[in-house]
Amino acid sequence: MTNDVRTFVADHSAELLTDLDAWLRIPGISAQPEYHPEVARSAEWFAEACRRTGFPVVEIWPTAGLPAVYAEWPSDDPDAPTVLVYGHHDVQPVDPLELWHTKPFEPTVDGPVLRARGASDDKGQLLFHLLGVRAHLAATGAANPAVTLKFLIEGEEESGSPNFEALLAERRDRLDCDVMVITDTGMLAEDTPSAVTGMRGMVPAMVSFHGPDLDLHSGVFGGAVPNPAEALTRLVAALHDADGRVQVPGFYDDVLDLTDTERELLARVPFDEAAFLANAKSRALTGEAGYTTLERLGARPTAEVNGLGGGYQGTGSKTIVPSDAFVKLSFRLVANQRPAAIRAGVEAFVAEHTPPGIQSTVHWEGEGVEACLVPIDTPAYQALSRAICTAFDAELILPTREGGSGPEAGLQKALQAPMVFLGVGLPDDQIHAPNEKVTLSMLYKGAEAAAHLWREFAELGRAGFKN
Ligand SMILES: [Zn+2]
Repeated sequence: MTNDVRTFVADHSAELLTDLDAWLRIPGISAQPEYHPEVARSAEWFAEACRRTGFPVVEIWPTAGLPAVYAEWPSDDPDAPTVLVYGHHDVQPVDPLELWHTKPFEPTVDGPVLRARGASDDKGQLLFHLLGVRAHLAATGAANPAVTLKFLIEGEEESGSPNFEALLAERRDRLDCDVMVITDTGMLAEDTPSAVTGMRGMVPAMVSFHGPDLDLHSGVFGGAVPNPAEALTRLVAALHDADGRVQVPGFYDDVLDLTDTERELLARVPFDEAAFLANAKSRALTGEAGYTTLERLGARPTAEVNGLGGGYQGTGSKTIVPSDAFVKLSFRLVANQRPAAIRAGVEAFVAEHTPPGIQSTVHWEGEGVEACLVPIDTPAYQALSRAICTAFDAELILPTREGGSGPEAGLQKALQAPMVFLGVGLPDDQIHAPNEKVTLSMLYKGAEAAAHLWREFAELGRAGFKN
């Protein structure tokens, strides 16, 4: 079976390349309104590619913004699990154009890589899925896949998915599934197969301190009335203790700690701390005591001061007791922290650090986003791991964590099914940057892995996901 899949993918790799070349020529930049007709054309192109692959149900789903593509291919087996694949067909803007060595929408093959905007993020990856479905069918010899496949391909991911939650709510009855496969991430290296197992959530806030109702002369009033800027910096200073632990009440109560196995596997992830520092253009690393940099980035929650202001900011001096001060904060969350509990904790922390005579307000920028986590001992992850190992001729895959998050948390919340990440981008793909590229062999491996994954999931059966 392995060879059937591999042979099929090798025999048909040129078709993937032809498709990729055609699709990448459509500049579907969701962030720029002048390109919105192209995003619609991109959706139509992918819908047609799904029809050509054999999906019997293919629909364009309009939203208040840009359209998504939905494709469904039922299995013949009523006990077969239903898999929902998520990805996006829109792309990032291309500025600064002068830094591109080739034209962003004229795909160019350069040895083992293909360069164009969207090559890795996310069009190349979606096309490996279409080839993967064909390889799966070729290997099983059946007319329909061994699992029911549902593809939900968004058109606004690169603009922050503003209408995605509404789309999920509107189409909820069509989206029932036993497991979700997210294809919008990458692996550590060509020879180091890996899978994302967590993405941090986020709660952004702004805290304002109001003191006297007007800026006061510091000679006349200073020393006798509370200074909101000084009070606010005390609050900011109290946010972390000397070990870098966040002092918001209850902040760590719900945190799901890394298991020993996870820590051991994370420690095997090749990570060049010097390169990371150079990339950050920073002169030191810091963070919560007792954790490695990779653990701090992916598996630990944080509080960050994003901006701080108040009082006189102009040239020269202006001797005042300012009336107002503010700080913008963001909290990165990990599983199983709940944004609502964090918001309550922050409000208590602010109240506790508001001295007499200061009025504090906490302004929330939205409800916040939950973290998502793929526990590595679940049947879904184990099946993913076997499928990737087979495709890459590897013994094991390394679990990785991402520091930020996309629409995955919304999917998990709406569909309440286990999730895994199958993505084959590489760290140097320059996604969101000039000269985006994809390594073609990774796309072929991705197609193989997907073909194996549908077989693995079918073998688990629907009941297998409910452990
Ligand atoms: Zn993406």
